[in-house]
Parts: sequence; C-alpha cells; structure tokens
Amino acid sequence: MRAASNSGIDVVSSAVLVVGSGGAGLRAAIAARENGADVVVLGKRGRLDAHTSMAAGGINAALGTVDPEDSWQQHFADTMHEGYLLSHPRVAELMAREAPAAVLEVAGWGCEFARLPDGRLDQRFFGAHTWRRTCYAGDHTGRDIVDTLVRRAEALGVRFVERVYVWRLVVEDGRCAGALAFDVRTGDRAAFVASAVVLATGGHTSLWRTNTSRQDENHGEGMALALRAGCRLMDMELVQFHPTGLVAPPEVAGTLVTEAVRGEGGRLYNAKGERFMSRYDSRRMELSTRDRVALANYTEIMSGRGGPNGGVFLDVSHRGRDHILERLPTMHRQLLAFQGLDISKEPMEIAPTAHYSMGGIAVDPDTHATDVPGLFAAGECAAGLHGANRLGGNSLVDTLVFGRRSGAAAAAAAREQRGDALPRSRDIAEGNSDLDDLIGRSTEDVGTLQRQLREVMWRNCGVLRDETGLREGLGRLEEIRSALGPVDAGAENGWVGLGRALDLRAALLTAEATLRCAIERRETRGCHNRSDHRNLDPAMQRNFYARQAPEGALTVWSEPVPAVADELMPWLESARELDLSERLLE
Ligand SMILES: Cc1cc2nc3c(=O)[nH]c(=O)nc-3n(C[C@H](O)[C@H](O)[C@H](O)COP(=O)(O)OP(=O)(O)OC[C@H]3O[C@@H](n4cnc5c(N)ncnc54)[C@H](O)[C@@H]3O)c2cc1C
Repeated sequence: MRAASNSGIDVVSSAVLVVGSGGAGLRAAIAARENGADVVVLGKRGRLDAHTSMAAGGINAALGTVDPEDSWQQHFADTMHEGYLLSHPRVAELMAREAPAAVLEVAGWGCEFARLPDGRLDQRFFGAHTWRRTCYAGDHTGRDIVDTLVRRAEALGVRFVERVYVWRLVVEDGRCAGALAFDVRTGDRAAFVASAVVLATGGHTSLWRTNTSRQDENHGEGMALALRAGCRLMDMELVQFHPTGLVAPPEVAGTLVTEAVRGEGGRLYNAKGERFMSRYDSRRMELSTRDRVALANYTEIMSGRGGPNGGVFLDVSHRGRDHILERLPTMHRQLLAFQGLDISKEPMEIAPTAHYSMGGIAVDPDTHATDVPGLFAAGECAAGLHGANRLGGNSLVDTLVFGRRSGAAAAAAAREQRGDALPRSRDIAEGNSDLDDLIGRSTEDVGTLQRQLREVMWRNCGVLRDETGLREGLGRLEEIRSALGPVDAGAENGWVGLGRALDLRAALLTAEATLRCAIERRETRGCHNRSDHRNLDPAMQRNFYARQAPEGALTVWSEPVPAVADELMPWLESARELDLSERLLE
C-alpha cells in the first residue's frame, strides 16, 4: 500500500514494520506474517546481504544428537555462567528451551545443516560449552540461515524495501507508529507507517578501531533510534572483543580469524616464542574463554611482546597441510589472498577485535517489547541474553528465538491497535525538515570524525579500561560532536554520505551510553576489564541502564539482575562453580 501524504512524501503502510533484514528481522517478519499481519521489512543493504550472512561457525541447540547427555537446562547453565551471571535468567531460559525447535524449524525450511549418516543434525564443540551442541552449515551457517529465511518470508508474502536508511522513529501520543527513511541511492524519502515496529538493526561494534563488522553496519543505529524514542539501553559497556582478528594489511585489519583455528589446535605465541597462555589459563590454554584469551593477547601486546604489526602469533601449521585444507579451507584461502601467507607453513599475526554487543535495548524477556508501546527489539540490538561474555553460537539462536517471539508479539499488538495508525502528516513534515537541516556543505569530513571516534573508543574504552581514560573519552566525544556539522550529501557523496553522517550521530550517542555505563561498572567481570578495579565484585551482579532526558542528557543507574527460577537453581549450582575470586590478570 503506497500513498502520497499531504506532506509531499510517500507513505507506505503495514500492520507490522520490521527494521533490519538480518536473522532477527527476517524471523520476526515470518512470525508476524504467520500471525496474520501485513509486514514490511526494511534494510540498508539487499535482503540477502545483512550482517548475519557473515556468521560462520554455527548455531547452538541442545539437541543431544552427538552428546545425548546434553539438555536445555545445561545450555541455560552454561549461558548463565559464561555470562558471569549478568544474563536475564528468563531470557537465557527461553533461549535454551526453544533453541532445539528453532533450529529444527529452519532445517525443515531447507537450511542445509551438516548431518550425521543417520540424517540427524551434526553438532560440534564451541568454546566453554559443556557438550557438543553447535549445529553448522559448512563455514557459512549465517548465509544459509539468511537464504532460508528470505525464501520463507517471500513465500509468505512479506514485502521487502531494500537499501533504505531509517533515521527516525515516529512516536505519537507515546506510541510507536512507524519510521522515517530515505533511499540511499536516490535520496527519495518515505514514511513507513505501522501499528507495531520491530527493531532488528544489529550491534554497535563498528565504534571501535578494529572490529569484525562491515563498514556501513553496526554503528548502534537502532539503539540510538530507541534511546531517542524514550527506551532504556542496558549494559552497553559489555562488548565482546574476539581474541583473534587479523592485524594486516590495513584494509582487512580486524577481520575475524575463526575460533575454529584454536579449536583445531592453534597455539598462541608472543614475539619471544613463548606459548603465553600457560600464564593466563594453564588448564584450558588456547581453548579458554574469549574474554580471557582476548585479555591475554592484549596484555602480551601492551607489554612489548608483540610482533611487527602489533599482534601476537596464532600457529596451526603443526596440524599439517591436509588437515588444514580439510578443516579450515576458508581461512587458508583468505590468508593466501590477504597476505600471501600459507597457514599450513607459517603463523598468522592477530590481535583482539571488537566483535559483539552484549548490551543493547532493554526489553521484556518474553515478548521483547521495549519501553515504548508498539516498539519491539530483537537480535544483537537487544540486551539480556549474553551477560558479560557471549558463548559462541548463541547469537544466531538468539535471532531465531527472539525474532519469532518479537514478531508474534508485534502482530498481536497491531491487532489490538484500533483506528487509523497513520501519523499526522504534520509530524512527517516536521521530521523531514529536521533531515533537511542536516544537509548542506560540510566543513568536516565525516570519515575523519568517524576514525577519530573509533580511536577514542579503542584507546579509552577498549579491552582494558580505567576511570580516567573513560572520562577523557567522554570529553573527546564532545569535541567530535561539536565538529559534526551539516553533511555534504550532494552528488559527490550521494545519499550514502548522509547515511554515514547519521551513522556517526548514532555512534556518538551509543558511544556516550557505553562510556557512561563503563564508568559505573567499577569491577572486572567477563569482557569488562578495569585496571583500577581489578576484582569481580559480587555486589555488582547488576545491570546498568541508560536513558535520555528530553533535553538530551543521559542518566545511568543500575538494578539487580532478576532472580533465577527455583527449578533451575540446581543446574546453576551443580555446574562449574563461577570463581568469584575472578580477578584481572596481572
Ligand atoms: C564474522 C562474524 C562471524 C560470526 N559468527 C557467528 C557464529 O558462528 N554464530 C553465532 O551465533 N554468531 C556469530 N556472529 C554474530 C552474529 O552473526 C550476529 O550477532 C547476528 O547475525 C546479528 O543478527 P541481527 O539480525 O541481530 O542483526 P544483523 O544481521 O546485523 O542485521 C541488521 C540489519 O539492520 C539493518 N539496519 C541497521 N540500521 C539500519 C537503519 N538505520 N535503517 C535501515 N536498516 C538498518 C541492516 O541493514 C541489517 O539488515 C558472527 C559475527 C561476525 C561479525
């Protein structure tokens, strides 16, 4: 349905609008459609090209096909423990309980997961899981899931609008009623009007100098939209640094070296040839958790024991060429292409890289409704599941389980919404004049400011933080913010230039929330390493929230993590004891 509003821009209406076409957005759209809603899905890129398509390793579900001892309760306990008890217990429970059905469902829709000879889904180990529970489709699990979900959504009649940038949510009388957007190729503007909206816009790891994201994704766009609309953000300081990202050449710095390299026996060495993990986790060595290995790599590098490109060395060559070609074919091919390096003969130089946002938009655990009626959030932009350290393979299943739940809840909310959902055309017109204000001849280059922001986040809010550096980071943000004037969205940059400026605005807001939450969490826990508070503090088993006041200031406060259901307590107690004396590695 398309109609011109009297504000002069196109209006597209649907019962449910989904912003984002990654795993979470697609699964939400399918659920909303199956619950009777007319659905429109928007994305900055093509429908088959969201960030989810980069996911390689796999998706978790306690199917017990390889290890029959596994159970959803154990998956729950592993998630809680590895999240350092900051995950919302109800979110972790729903994820673990519903993961098997979610994975079997996409397999039934045609996702080509690897199978055992008897036809059941194969499962492999991922770091810090008690049992083998990671299903996979070669080393392209995310791509296969996206392809499958897009086919399903298209068959159900979900409408896609590709390459549009959503820059504002429409909130009327306290309720979300749609979004304002423009086409990144033509600049054509549209208002997408809906009775319920699902944000599925991904994380904010592009804020750091080296990261595993693509250039135009993961700036915290959806988190900023939600914050400005009146939602709370939660635990923004909890950002996972993957221990192994490439350091060179500069064009590919940060690119993920899959965990499978360590899974296949890869060893870490510093420039002195020491296998240094024995100093940090002598039991698990390179198979320790992501947060510990990342901190170990970082410590070696900062202590002057790094290599020529500022990394440490990951060596899998002892496994032999045949094994590497069979198990790590993509890595072998990529390193030859990027660096002319044969990993069956030489080590790779790697360093930590920003990888995943554990924090995000605060949501109701069951429906993923946000604080604003009519607005839902799912996937990496939402908070609650992963606590202070995400388990590998838990993110893809998060997108399926809570994509489905949020889509179904959005369809129900749309059904309940009576009357004409069309926002007043005055609001659309006013919104568009705000966008006009951003366009002009810029004096500052957005790319330069973006690089400055990434440098600030890397230096002041990276793997290791302290209060002085975090506060200095806040000051630097203000300087960058005041330098960001109107952008040049003329022929030279195309409308992509405007998108980049809006990315930067979103990034500055989510960076501020991240720094402010990081200041308040005065302890070391999981991914959050404070050199000025080196111990885990049991009293800090709390979630930190940020909200924006009408005049723009952010306030931060904390609340205790909700209690674990009685029937699940024995699983937590019998699982490996969380070492509450956990302290920052010297
Ligand atoms: C290299 C790599 C490997 C990974 N491997 C695994 C793995 O093996 N297993 C696992 O569980 N997890 C893995 N992850 C993590 C996982 O892929 C992501 O967390 C997950 O795919 C996020 O899905 P999503 O649907 O929430 O968001 P995304 O897939 O990031 O999709 C976001 C969508 O929102 C759109 N969007 C954003 N802002 C706007 C806007 N303003 N206007 C319009 N559209 C917008 C984007 O265009 C996109 O369509 C990996 C991540 C990376 C980077």
